[in-house]
Amino acid sequence: MKLTDPKLLRTQAYIDGQWCDSDNGDTFDVFNPANGDLIAAVPDLGAAETKHAIDAANSALASWRSKTAKERANILRAWYDLILQNQEDLAQLMTFEQGKPLAEARGEVIYGASFVEWFAEEGKRLYGDVIPAHGADKRVVVIKQPIGVIGAITPWNFPLAMITRKVAPALAVGCTAVVKPAEDTPLSALALAELAERAGVPKGVFNVVTCNKPNAVAVGGELTGNPIVRKVSFTGSTPVGKLLMKQCADQVKKVSLELGGNAPFIVFDDADLDAAVVGAIASKYRNAGQTCVCANRIFVQAGVYDEFAQKLADAVRTFKVGSGDQDGVTQGPLINKAALEKVQNLVDDAKDKGAKVVCGGQAHDLGGTFYQPTILTDVTTDMRIANEEIFGPVAPLYKFESEEEVIVKANDTPFGLAAYFYARDIGRIWRVSEGLEYGIVGINEGIISTEAAPFGGVKESGIGREGSKYGVEDFVEIKYLCMGGV
Ligand code: ADP
Repeated sequence: MKLTDPKLLRTQAYIDGQWCDSDNGDTFDVFNPANGDLIAAVPDLGAAETKHAIDAANSALASWRSKTAKERANILRAWYDLILQNQEDLAQLMTFEQGKPLAEARGEVIYGASFVEWFAEEGKRLYGDVIPAHGADKRVVVIKQPIGVIGAITPWNFPLAMITRKVAPALAVGCTAVVKPAEDTPLSALALAELAERAGVPKGVFNVVTCNKPNAVAVGGELTGNPIVRKVSFTGSTPVGKLLMKQCADQVKKVSLELGGNAPFIVFDDADLDAAVVGAIASKYRNAGQTCVCANRIFVQAGVYDEFAQKLADAVRTFKVGSGDQDGVTQGPLINKAALEKVQNLVDDAKDKGAKVVCGGQAHDLGGTFYQPTILTDVTTDMRIANEEIFGPVAPLYKFESEEEVIVKANDTPFGLAAYFYARDIGRIWRVSEGLEYGIVGINEGIISTEAAPFGGVKESGIGREGSKYGVEDFVEIKYLCMGGV
């Protein structure tokens, strides 16, 4: 890894504007998933250091929230510019710690930065309301105020964008933040802190607490148990999200949760099949299948099932698997051994129960955590792969007959994040859009993420929305002012 600006490789935590180690000097190692090489060791912090970060965020709150929205926006805008100016270095760091191909990492830097730009603007438009009063001598006014100190716990699959998507709206409206990045990918978070400091984000406003998996329990315990923290925003697995929600219940702390999905991707008889293949590839194989909006169950109507499977296989066979920093690579490794084993077990279970392998179907010859891009046909709902989030480059194809049947099947899951379908009939498009119990629906479109639209799920996929004009609402409290005696 050769960074143009080596100072972006930060290996200390960032609390109260200081780069710091853990109190006991403990560190944990960060590896390149493409080859297992050690990249860095970063501090393994615990509850005490997290409390320190929360206190710092609390001390910084009064002056940050009293700045004008425009003053905060100008600082965020400077942060945005710096992220873009350092796109290549940030992309390199990301590819080395996370494994995604450089082209995708560059895309994530732009995507991550877009939230900073968007919320810098949106913070200036945090309008209240004047409500027609219930008495002649009264006036009713609604103002919106920052919630206060927020805690954010983020995953490894989007090491940069999942942080900016939470921190940018929080900071824009006047909150201060303590972020715990995923243990696999702390370096992107620390580089963001370095750039925030350069942009003029005051000390204590944005803190990054790094820790390894075992200490996540203590750090998460402090973030959810410390009464100074008024809100916890989490992106990650459903079991951890439920646990954090329970922990937050004691203090009725607000939560935003962006959890797992089991996205259906439906191809109807009347679909443009070539477009559906492009959409399926984008939705299924991006980040080696490791996103919470990845197509997890591909339902294809009987009349086009074989043709779609063939076209998809032709496209998938052109993939180039390898280390993300190599030219032309379209699919990197999985994040770690546990991820590889999970994918292997799901595919083996499906094969045992009668699924046919069209391509792939096993670990890649490259070894390590590489897995072959895979397509399975004749998949049925009794297989584990139908009910679990695959988080790998495996496309299971289910056959269906009717629209009614596929809507029932698509909704037959406790999850409800993203869904996709391809069709041309306008009546069907409305019916299916309204029938799918999901927070996001891609219609003839496989890529749905943008800073301008609300991202989030229903059912066990989460609470709250990120991005868009709705994204700031998660970080403000509504206060009603009732004025009498006018
Ligand atoms: P994954 O299985 O994809 O790694 P997780 O939900 O385990 O998803 O991880 C998402 C984030 O949640 C990471 O930052 C991780 O360290 C953190 N995390 C995991 N367990 C806990 C916990 N008990 N308390 C707080 N944070 C946790």
